[in-house]
Amino acid sequence: MQFIDLAAQQQRIRQKIEDKIRVVLDHGKYIMGPEINELEKRLAEFAGVKHSVACASGTDALLMTLMAEKVGPGDAIFTTPFTFIATAGIISLLGATPVFVDIDPKTFNLDPDKLALAIKSLKSNDSSLHALPLTPNASHLTPRGIISVDLFGLPCDYDSINAIAKEHRFFVIEDAAQGLGGEYKGRKAGALADVGCTSFFPAKPLGAYGDGGALFTDSDEMADKLASIRVHGQGEDKYNNVRIGLNARMDTLQAAILNAKLDIFPQEIDLRQDVAQSYTELLCPYAMLHAPGVPEGYKSVWAQYSLVTESPESRANIQESLKKAGIPTAVYYPKPLHLQTAFAGLGYKEGDFPISEDTSNRIFSLPMHPYLNVNEIERICAVIIASLHL
Ligand SMILES: *Cc1c(COP(=O)(O)O)cnc(C)c1O
Repeated sequence: MQFIDLAAQQQRIRQKIEDKIRVVLDHGKYIMGPEINELEKRLAEFAGVKHSVACASGTDALLMTLMAEKVGPGDAIFTTPFTFIATAGIISLLGATPVFVDIDPKTFNLDPDKLALAIKSLKSNDSSLHALPLTPNASHLTPRGIISVDLFGLPCDYDSINAIAKEHRFFVIEDAAQGLGGEYKGRKAGALADVGCTSFFPAKPLGAYGDGGALFTDSDEMADKLASIRVHGQGEDKYNNVRIGLNARMDTLQAAILNAKLDIFPQEIDLRQDVAQSYTELLCPYAMLHAPGVPEGYKSVWAQYSLVTESPESRANIQESLKKAGIPTAVYYPKPLHLQTAFAGLGYKEGDFPISEDTSNRIFSLPMHPYLNVNEIERICAVIIASLHL
């Protein structure tokens, strides 16, 4: 059994993918070929935004947004410590400071109440209210924005987060690397903040056959800036550079592959709902597993289906039983970002974000992809349930 079965998907659309690759080989426009424009149009339509800008990875999408916002040393960006390293790594890469905010234990997403507290704490330089980075001292930091993460495919509470941002004139970046295909109150993930960023890493809900990413925005000005940053800060033409930028283009071949996959993505989103629902029906009678719930008005794309066990020992037991039965599992994330060596310079310590720390010790994820069948789901759940009685 596969944790994510990409071969099952490929089997369905192999001919179409090969045809689209052949078209690229024939026209030879490997950089910014017509497939890029086609993909951007379709992505913008899919997310219900005015502009989509394709780029080289989800990490670059986040980095480009902070560059467009001119984030640099002395700026503070609020984000979650319970995410993939890229979310906060790009903040530090630009010399700015990530200010971590703990998560809601039910959704694993940024807790808006704690966000409000963290802002108050930073603005008054009072770390008794909320844990702050030790270096640099809060008095040297200017809070600028928020990066919220739609973890495991579930959008954050954007009404609350956007309202807080508006009050303080912060920008909000939606890290929808895992979230594309999710929904919040009738709107699509990627479209829920000032700029949405997503990733087409092969294992994401919509994956390429290599790295890729995209940005979403309704702002003409932001879309222009992002397109310029994508190609070395170009202005009117390639040799007229108006800002410092990157080489962050998506390969034409990856766009061709994504165009083929996008055709079946809506159907795959439905299949993911069915898989998650089957898991939940079988596992929700076991309260000690904390099967994930989806709040009213939200739709998850189920990038991961994650359980939280009663104890770290119970997680180890269940994972071991599943492994013996040939069923792969994974832990996202075993160590929250504030405890990573890469961020040691910020001076955070154990106990600063208790929900993230506790969750990281007890969470694990089950195989999840659109082609997981009912027999497989029943077998996985039977092994889990049997191991609860060990
Ligand atoms: C995967 C991921 C990224 C980075 O995307 P890449 O395409 O791998 O660079 C950023 N944030 C989150 C939450 C992710 O899961």
